[in-house]
Amino acid sequence: MTGWLGDHAGMRWSPGLDEGLSQAVIVGGPDRTLAADREGHALCVARDDARIHGLDQHLVGTVQHCTYWVVDASEATGDDWEWSPPRPLIVGASSDTFIALSAALQWLDFLREHRFCGACGHVMRPSLSDRGRQCGQCGLISYPRVSPSIIILITRGDELLLARSPRFVNGMYSTLAGFVEAGESAEHACHREIFEEVGIRIHPPTYLGSQSWPFKHSLMLGYRAEWLSGEIKVDGVEILDAQWFHPTRLPPLPQHASISRGLIDHFLLERGYPMTRDSA
Ligand SMILES: [Zn+2]
Repeated sequence: MTGWLGDHAGMRWSPGLDEGLSQAVIVGGPDRTLAADREGHALCVARDDARIHGLDQHLVGTVQHCTYWVVDASEATGDDWEWSPPRPLIVGASSDTFIALSAALQWLDFLREHRFCGACGHVMRPSLSDRGRQCGQCGLISYPRVSPSIIILITRGDELLLARSPRFVNGMYSTLAGFVEAGESAEHACHREIFEEVGIRIHPPTYLGSQSWPFKHSLMLGYRAEWLSGEIKVDGVEILDAQWFHPTRLPPLPQHASISRGLIDHFLLERGYPMTRDSA
């Protein structure tokens, strides 16, 4: 399944390796923004661009044949940069740019949030043996945080269970999702989250693929499961509404970039229904 942005089979993506034929620098700004061009796309600059002179260039990795670096220019003054929130830049990108921007953003988060040791408070420095950051006092090594979440499409025959969260815009409905708790398997998280959020039981879920999602550091593990028993009950807080939707009367759906939409589209295709609605 490749119906969402990210590192699919056949794509060359080497995190933390400089093996590209070309080089590009992604520029991070204040409050998790990224530099953008006038057309609203992410702006990459050359490594010797005068505007990033003196800033540390951190290696992100090589996507296809381009090595990406990232700099933190959040202290920059003047009008050298047009800053944009990351979401429109990342969601509107191609898969290779999506990977580079997503990884760069998460790498900047890691640098900003691991300046000091979480155990003893001493200054952290790059580890000499790997890509982590290590405490000069107690030796603790930290790595960029990756938080596994399950995202699951529940079906009942031809119907799809889609839910509406208070943070969704435009009346959008989506698949259910939730974080995997410490000590829990992803499959267990599927059963638990579904019962907690909509009060139903499901058959064993089938794994369909994953997506790195940098809002903020999620690894979305995509599943599908068939309804087993129970009627939909929502708490009205985390989930405002959830319904069984027939493919011929779907609500506004998430954008095509997301694994959520990929799971829905895959099901519609499999059942022979047209993928009618566009992005919400
Ligand atoms: Zn320490």
